[in-house]
Amino acid sequence: ALADVPLEISGLSKRYHGAADRYAVRELSFRVERGQVLGLLGPNGAGKTTTMRMMMGLIRPDAGSIRVFGHAIRPGAPVLSRVGAFVEGAGFLPHLTGRANLELYWRATGRPAADAHVEEALEIAGLGEALERAVRTYSQGMRQRLAIAQAMLGLPDLLILDEPTNGLDPPQIREMRDVVRRYAAAGRTVLVSSHLLSEVEQSCTHLVVMDKGRLVAAGPVGEIAGGGQALFVGAPGM
Ligand code: ATP
Repeated sequence: ALADVPLEISGLSKRYHGAADRYAVRELSFRVERGQVLGLLGPNGAGKTTTMRMMMGLIRPDAGSIRVFGHAIRPGAPVLSRVGAFVEGAGFLPHLTGRANLELYWRATGRPAADAHVEEALEIAGLGEALERAVRTYSQGMRQRLAIAQAMLGLPDLLILDEPTNGLDPPQIREMRDVVRRYAAAGRTVLVSSHLLSEVEQSCTHLVVMDKGRLVAAGPVGEIAGGGQALFVGAPGM
């Protein structure tokens, strides 16, 4: 049934005003099945962020549809509690601890203060003792992890992460990969974007590759990444 499909996008298109004829996303269709860890891969400007922001109901597509567990997503519609999303630049109160910030956020979303799911999400995020420190003492990587933890509170069935490794150094990138793996281990569904194949090939089960707003490849990670063909000619590190 449609209600069992975490995410299905169909014919999605978006053009920004003033960007002439250029589509940021053009006739994009794909589906994420339950339990998949799907990497949305593409070079800078491919349209990953635009796609994810449409999925989160932050911007309105020009055409096409997005269904999350069977519900049509559109700006202004209530965000489903089954979905958690990470976008860059989440704001935290610097003088409060990481834990206090997350509790504040959790209560602001109208959920009960004590929730076993919250503790499990914090466990998965692996912030450890840092949770009890003021956010102003956090490195960029720690802030990013806290923002990921925030998206994971309540253990949503679908977790959407837009470039969670942006600005992180290699050890932090490896940690982020482990966080995604731990989250998905219980059969939860994750959609994660990146511009580096090396970042997603080990943590993802499936890939959707975008370039210039269009889907250029999709399938199980072994078929897409292991084919030996260059996905993006001239893009180092791919
Ligand atoms: P990145 O990895 O750099 O974030 P991306 O794959 O996420 O890239 P998008 O950010 O979705 O790609 O951008 C797709 C295209 O849309 C790019 O050409 C970009 O310049 C353009 N674009 C994105 N946001 C806007 C905006 N607010 N106004 C005009 N054009 C935009």
